[in-house]
Amino acid sequence: MRATRSGSAGAEGDTSPLMPHTTGTRYAVVSCHVERPLDDAVWARFAELQERRTGGFRIAALIRPADVSAGEDESIWVERARDAAARGPLGHHTHWTAPDHARPTAAGAGERVLAEGVRLRELGLEPTLFCGGGWYTDTDVAEACAELGYVDCTPRATRPAYLGAGERWASLAVPTGVQLPSGRLLRAIPTTHSLGALARALPRSLPEVVHVYFHDTDLVHGRRRLALRAGLALLARRARATDPDALAAAGGAPEVSWADVARP
Ligand SMILES: [Zn+2]
Repeated sequence: MRATRSGSAGAEGDTSPLMPHTTGTRYAVVSCHVERPLDDAVWARFAELQERRTGGFRIAALIRPADVSAGEDESIWVERARDAAARGPLGHHTHWTAPDHARPTAAGAGERVLAEGVRLRELGLEPTLFCGGGWYTDTDVAEACAELGYVDCTPRATRPAYLGAGERWASLAVPTGVQLPSGRLLRAIPTTHSLGALARALPRSLPEVVHVYFHDTDLVHGRRRLALRAGLALLARRARATDPDALAAAGGAPEVSWADVARP
């Protein structure tokens, strides 16, 4: 995996004294699930963090579209989404059931993604990334993402602990091209670490490509905000800071079939 761009504060993994035996360059990207883009206090914290570029990271905003049926104001939302897109990569984050209920409770998950994606383009936005709320995905969602040209960040390197038995998710360890049943190729950059998982992994081992995620709502808690900044600063010493768009543009990812990725 090569990347064409990197943050100024990033250092190569193979020169870090913490990783004397690693030979390849490690890359790291960071994304935020923007759950409450219309909450002024949450949004201000997120905007400040994106602006700050701790560790050299251009943080991707995986933003939940305004849910007009739930009374959310699309005109304010679109201004904020445009601001976020000016500061870093923009992604589409779907909550299927309600603003505060991510995973779907009815059929038609792929249709919802397509409809939202079309609406985002009507609003003049060009998201490049996707992440399913609650890590949900299925064949139709994956096909919708490929149709919209998204790079999918929904796959996880490890099974989300809170999912019940039989609940759908997607499993991937490294950036991959996923061959879908339609014959389309879905590019994917799996999400590898929560903030807590990053804190536990930093003194130990990190994969070749690290993808850290957090939620915008984490930022209203001072302690979590500080933990995020500290974690990203340390991560930038162990990996070259880049962003999901640059990583996807670098290409070179292996390919696997959807059947090998979809769980259960
Ligand atoms: Zn969400």
